[in-house]
Amino acid sequence: MNIYRANIIYTPSPDAFRILPGGYVCVREDGIIAGVYEQLPEQYRTAEVTDYGDRLLIPAFNDMHLHAPQYRNLGLAMDLELLPWLNTYTFPEESKFKDTAYAERIYHRFVHELWMQGTMRSCVFATVHPEATRMLADFFVQAGLGAKVGIVGMNRNCPDTLRNTAEEVVRDTRALKQYLDVHGNNGLVGTIVTPRFIPSCTEDMSAALGRLAEELQLPVQSHLSENRSEIDWVQSLEPDTACYGEAYYKYGLFGQRPTLMAHCCYTDGEELRLMKRQGVYVVHCPTSNSNIASGMAPVRMFLQHGIPVVLGSDISGGHYVSMLRIIQYAVQTSKLIYAQTQGKMPFLSLSEAFYLATKAGGGFFGKVGSFEEGYEFDALLVDDSYLNYDNYTLEQRIQRYIYIGDDRDIRVRFCRGKELTEPPMD
Ligand SMILES: [Zn+2]
Repeated sequence: MNIYRANIIYTPSPDAFRILPGGYVCVREDGIIAGVYEQLPEQYRTAEVTDYGDRLLIPAFNDMHLHAPQYRNLGLAMDLELLPWLNTYTFPEESKFKDTAYAERIYHRFVHELWMQGTMRSCVFATVHPEATRMLADFFVQAGLGAKVGIVGMNRNCPDTLRNTAEEVVRDTRALKQYLDVHGNNGLVGTIVTPRFIPSCTEDMSAALGRLAEELQLPVQSHLSENRSEIDWVQSLEPDTACYGEAYYKYGLFGQRPTLMAHCCYTDGEELRLMKRQGVYVVHCPTSNSNIASGMAPVRMFLQHGIPVVLGSDISGGHYVSMLRIIQYAVQTSKLIYAQTQGKMPFLSLSEAFYLATKAGGGFFGKVGSFEEGYEFDALLVDDSYLNYDNYTLEQRIQRYIYIGDDRDIRVRFCRGKELTEPPMD
């Protein structure tokens, strides 16, 4: 048993932070939490305790939507909307990942950055290239981080340099799954079925990926109702469907297996009902939605309907890898909606947004993202002493850390109970 003492802060439910000043978390050898306590129970009185003093111990972050091959474009290319943005900036960059030497260089930095920012688990789009994608999965394994890494399926409306066939994406996803079943660090790293979005996939490809998800019992990730031009385009490509979401549904890609749909800025009506019925996750990506002028996802409305919402950085539509910034932008975006609706849509509290980035996203991986008994111990030790120069309460310290802290304050990172060392950057 490993026992850690610190100021423990987490969100078992969205409505408030649970705070244990000088509390204890007991973690079994297999990385599962045995209990969290205000006082150390009698049975552990003689056990060795790692005492982290006045530092904060919080759950690590889960980034539920991001694109590894867009890492080099971080902070660039914010002058176009989604569809021209893809053609002008994103597809040319992703095409480079046919070259495994290039992929190695960028993917090393990408995985290092996730480690640095305290994102212990993520759901990642790679590219159509199987060699580079397997390398990316290997880097996650070597770093000790958790991830679901998807080979992207796309066979229409894209350059020839970034195109696979339905047969290829099925074959390559199957091979990646077989590889990670053996080499994926006991399930910490796995794969996920990843059609780019409806405009990139012919009927044959979408149907083949839906069947594959069912056969291999894999989850699914894609994009939904991000941008108005995109929605109009999908309507013209799939004229027999009532909404964009139904186009995924008819191919078995909308909740038949656990499904993440990024954005959902314009989801309502029939699509909202279908998402709720199918238990499809909304991945809210507020920085990306703002950068490429997509819109504002109605997160409060989704929550009111009982639709699961999680958070994503969506780099490089999003410009920050840090989930601290995504939490903050999620709250800020909800306040703009609040103002726009004359207060009819209550904004997100900080604890709600923190919950979305930890326990809500973690639910996609199992029992992850909280410090309750039975959860995998994914945690960050935060030294906020330079922010805490006066008599701040712990409630105030977590607020200040989320808004104005960063990766430099993270001292120790745990994933599934294991303390991680810094992975290579080059
Ligand atoms: Zn995306």
